[in-house]
Amino acid sequence: MLKVAALQKQYGDICALNDINFTVEKGQIAALLGPSGSGKSTLLRCLCRLETPTSGNISFDKSEISALPAHATGMVFQSYNLFPHMTCLENITFAAKRHGLQKLHSFDSDKKQTVNEIAMSLLAQFGLQNRSNAYPHQLSGGQRQRIAICRALIMNPPLLMFDEPTSALDPERVKDVTALIRSLGGKDRIIIISTHELRVAQLASDKVLFLDKGRLVESAATASFFANPQSERGRQFLLNLMN
Ligand code: ADP
Ligand code: MG
Repeated sequence: MLKVAALQKQYGDICALNDINFTVEKGQIAALLGPSGSGKSTLLRCLCRLETPTSGNISFDKSEISALPAHATGMVFQSYNLFPHMTCLENITFAAKRHGLQKLHSFDSDKKQTVNEIAMSLLAQFGLQNRSNAYPHQLSGGQRQRIAICRALIMNPPLLMFDEPTSALDPERVKDVTALIRSLGGKDRIIIISTHELRVAQLASDKVLFLDKGRLVESAATASFFANPQSERGRQFLLNLMN
């Protein structure tokens, strides 16, 4: 279980996150839904330990998140943040190799495989096996996103995060991407997606965490949030975006 308790993040006078409390169970996909500036990216950055909270606690399976190994969390950034001077294969394998790992557990058996073999099988899973030696600028936006997903997946993280996964894509691709994210869920994994798009939360998540101005205004099962939001702000947000 992921547990966030009394989380606060202050940037000078700006309170980006104010007393955030929630839990997400293993196997669940949660959407951080909210308008621009509500604190979604800051929360993801705290969860993947790129940002140190001002106060509060984050634990995963009862361990402090800061005590977990780096590969416990994986993040797909909004603009993907691929290294432009590295090939796709180098981008995907960089972190594992930097940690001195030569072999990793295969995703579908007990065997160990080399980091490159695992990266190639991920590329194949996403239909990109023939682009392993391409550079990011030689790919389409959707292909770059899939490379960023492979990079986040290579260490098989139990906590996987996506920051605005549809913001750089053609609206027609929302369904494909949400289906792809759904396919990455599983009983041992928690996925957290930040989004300001209702459709993404609706298609991809089991649970909505609705943020506004740094506060968690409402937390509910996705179907019940969309059918009957309990907060006035949640109700307003849905009405504004549906009309
Ligand atoms: P969202 O992802 O929901 O659009 P953010 O988490 O990016 O929101 O931002 C929440 C608030 O924190 C905003 O007011 C933003 O300006 C502020 N903020 C985010 N990152 C920083 C930073 N590194 N320095 C100062 N203020 C920041
Ligand atoms: Mg953001």
